[in-house]
Amino acid sequence: MIETESRCRWRRRCAPVVSLVLVGCAWRAVCVSLVLACTAPIEASAAQSAVDPTARILELEDLGRGRPTEAARQLDHLRGATAEFSPQRLELLTVQGVTLAVASQADAAERSAAQLDAWGRTPGAAMARNATAAALLIRARSLARGGDLPGAEALMREAMAQLPGTLPARDRFRFVFAQGYIADQSGKLEQAVRLNYEAMALADRQDELWRKSEARTALAYSYYNAKQYERARALSLAAIALAEQGHDWVSLARANNTSGMVLNALGDLQGERRSFELALALARRAGSKVDEVRYLANLADYYLRNADYNTALDQARRALPLARELKDRSSEMVALANIGLAYISLQHIQLGKRYVYDAIAIDEQRGAINSMSDSWDELGSYLEKAGDLPGAVAAYHEHRRLLNGILQDSRQKAILAMQEQYDADQRSRALVLLNRENALKVEQLRRQDLQRRMGWLLAAALVLSLAVLALLYRRVRQSNRLLAHRNEQLKAQGECDPLTGLANRRQFQAVMRRRAVDGTLSGTVYLIDIDHFKTINDRHGHAAGDAVLVEVARRLRETLREPDLIVRWGGEEFLVVVQALAPEQVDGLAQRMLGVLDQAPVAVESQRIDVTGSIGYATFPIGPASLRVSWERAIELVDTAMYLAKAHGRNRAYGVRLMQACDEAALDAITRALESAWRDGRVTLTQLPGRTPRAAA
Ligand code: GH3
Ligand code: MG
Ligand code: MG
Repeated sequence: MIETESRCRWRRRCAPVVSLVLVGCAWRAVCVSLVLACTAPIEASAAQSAVDPTARILELEDLGRGRPTEAARQLDHLRGATAEFSPQRLELLTVQGVTLAVASQADAAERSAAQLDAWGRTPGAAMARNATAAALLIRARSLARGGDLPGAEALMREAMAQLPGTLPARDRFRFVFAQGYIADQSGKLEQAVRLNYEAMALADRQDELWRKSEARTALAYSYYNAKQYERARALSLAAIALAEQGHDWVSLARANNTSGMVLNALGDLQGERRSFELALALARRAGSKVDEVRYLANLADYYLRNADYNTALDQARRALPLARELKDRSSEMVALANIGLAYISLQHIQLGKRYVYDAIAIDEQRGAINSMSDSWDELGSYLEKAGDLPGAVAAYHEHRRLLNGILQDSRQKAILAMQEQYDADQRSRALVLLNRENALKVEQLRRQDLQRRMGWLLAAALVLSLAVLALLYRRVRQSNRLLAHRNEQLKAQGECDPLTGLANRRQFQAVMRRRAVDGTLSGTVYLIDIDHFKTINDRHGHAAGDAVLVEVARRLRETLREPDLIVRWGGEEFLVVVQALAPEQVDGLAQRMLGVLDQAPVAVESQRIDVTGSIGYATFPIGPASLRVSWERAIELVDTAMYLAKAHGRNRAYGVRLMQACDEAALDAITRALESAWRDGRVTLTQLPGRTPRAAA
């Protein structure tokens, strides 16, 4: 069941220039005679098993591969031995239909298919689905033989869908094997290899050697098409071994034919020819005209390729009547073409052309445009080689015309459709991209705009915040400054006498705290009290009294130095603290102060007011024991001295120079009775009179 028509096309691809020396004829003769010596078993076994219809059906299936018509006729006779709707009847019809279909007897095959179809449609009939599937299998086989591979494939799919899940291995083999063959012919090599492996596994579960051998040949052919020549070679050798073991000449012929193709691919041209010649001898011996016509075509093709035109012509002329007998139009066309090409090569150009034209006419009738185009091309190349250049040009022209037609009709349309589809796809893709890009740009612009606005807003907010902050900062600074100023003012006010601007008692206390860490006073203290001030008030008014106070303060400030402390101690009393004065300076300062008070009357408006004062003073620590005393006790002492000055006539100063006191208690006692202590000599006083001492008021 090997499809070999493709072999006839080799000559178009391989230029027939290789000259082959025909050797090994003796070897061939040996092989052929060996084969012929062993032919008898097939027919003998076929005759023996008439009892069991199944066994007989299988024998006829085996026979039908080489002699389909005969096997089909015998199967007809066997019908009576099988019950209607029985498994035997199903197998009989299936085998009969497939045998005829494979032998290109489509009409006869259709009769079996129709019966199976009717069975499938019979209500309640057993194995109805199997029958429908078998009808589809037969029709698929016929379509494949006729060249309609897509149609065959579709029918096989339908058939497989109809098949029940569980099926005996032998039945399944017929379906899978057919599928593998169709896949191979369709160029679906992976699928073909897979299916042929499955077919081989199914065949190996049977006892029939021919099925095992054919399954391997089919797989070898798939590998050959897949250009895996070593595996193809190994498989065809296995197929040959199995066929030899079963003395099965049809299988052996087919295995050798495939082996020949593989050897050609492996570059073993002698091996190739031997295999083809052996295949042909075996096919003839087995009486398989179906195989013989194909192998003759292969051999003719081989000899044409190898420039042995006489042998090629001989082989092709043998093939022609066989093809006609078998009504195999395809093989008839190939035989005619090969005869024609051989004649042309032998310089019988016109005769040769006529044969080729006849071959082309068959293709024309069948509508096989591709094959016609190939034949014109082939004719052109042979005419060119034979020197008929005008004929070659005409043939090439026809080839080109058909090729153009084919291209325009099918390929170009397909290409154009593809191009249009591609363009449309490109356009729509470009449009989608453009839209996407636009959308992206719009989005980007929107974002940029938003970002810009946000930026401006943020900047404005920042500027505003900064302005507000600056304003607030300025205000705070102003307020702080004002506050500091006010604080200073308050502090000044708190520590100064508002009328005279001199330090008040609080400031004096603060200075004392700062200067005397241990609470004792260091320096000379003067207490000045204006004499008869009440009288001044009474005579000149309170405002004039104020003016006198202000003037006295001014005069004291003028008399004293910067670091000296001048305090308004009470209403008309002033306290002066001077640090580190020598004893003679102490008295001098008291004298000067008496002088400045008395130096000139104070002018208040039109009035002139005479002013004098009484002063008490002392230097601390006080001698001779350098007794350290607190500033409060020190002031009490000078205050007492000042009252002593008042008591002794006013406008004078009394300074305590020495005091016989070794502690504060002694000092307190002396202070309380200063005058008596002075008389006792426990105290040494300095008396300084003013310029114009006045009597007490
Ligand atoms: P003496 O010579 O004994 O010191 O007599 P004096 O009148 O100065 O003393 P006295 O203590 O009796 O009177 C003091 C007067 O000073 C009483 C009071 O009204 C007056 N005085 C106190 N503070 C002020 C002041 O700020 N302005 C005026 N104008 N008078 C004041
Ligand atoms: Mg007083
Ligand atoms: Mg007074």
